[in-house]
Amino acid sequence: MKYTYVANWKMNLTYNESISFCTNKQQLKQLGSNAAQVILCPSFVALAPIVEMLKNSSVFIGAQNCSEYEKGAYTGEVSAQSLSEVGITHCIVGHSERRILYSETTETLVKKIDLLHRYNITPIICVGETKDHFTNKATFTVLTEQLKPIIKNVEQQKNKVLIIAYEPIWSIGTGIVPENTYLEEVFAWITKLLHSQLPEHAIQLLYGGSITATNIKQLKSIQNINGFLIGGASTDFKEFESIIQP
Ligand code: PEP
Repeated sequence: MKYTYVANWKMNLTYNESISFCTNKQQLKQLGSNAAQVILCPSFVALAPIVEMLKNSSVFIGAQNCSEYEKGAYTGEVSAQSLSEVGITHCIVGHSERRILYSETTETLVKKIDLLHRYNITPIICVGETKDHFTNKATFTVLTEQLKPIIKNVEQQKNKVLIIAYEPIWSIGTGIVPENTYLEEVFAWITKLLHSQLPEHAIQLLYGGSITATNIKQLKSIQNINGFLIGGASTDFKEFESIIQP
């Protein structure tokens, strides 16, 4: 199985740190191989130079966000078209930090997905429940609410690749990883829903939340997980490299 590994550097790595992560690293170029699809997501300012640095490798470069608007007077925003012009292939959307800290709604998310498809960028769409939802056994209700508009949108798209990252919010940056049995249940449920609603799509399901080189083996034993979205642990090259090792 070829796993996908998405490195979400958030605002944790500066421009200089992002460049030095990628400098003189033959090993980095080899991480994207027959066994792994690697997508690095630095901050906006580091995107263009890193695309250039890694252009002869099989590592993909993704953005962490994009504007919900195509063009115009939106100070501080970055458009999907600009991302595509610098060679970006993927873009994270709907991350819980955007939903919570920047009040992003499902409506905004769907507009972003639309624009990304228009510019041939594959969205990496994040979903997941809060600790309260988890405690109140509301995970499947929340996931249904989050996934329904996404399914409706992507079924009309020509691009038949769908990447969904399931990230329980209570696991992001907390060091807490859900029990295997819980993840088995959630991933089986998402798989069934998406395969029945989007039979023509190639669907990749990622898990995200406190992944480290120590717990990755256990996570890889879970069925229906096709890859991982890694935050904190992806900012350290050695740790990231050992996560990817088969
Ligand atoms: C994330 O932010 O998507 C994430 C999974 O972070 P971490 O790995 O640090 O929990």
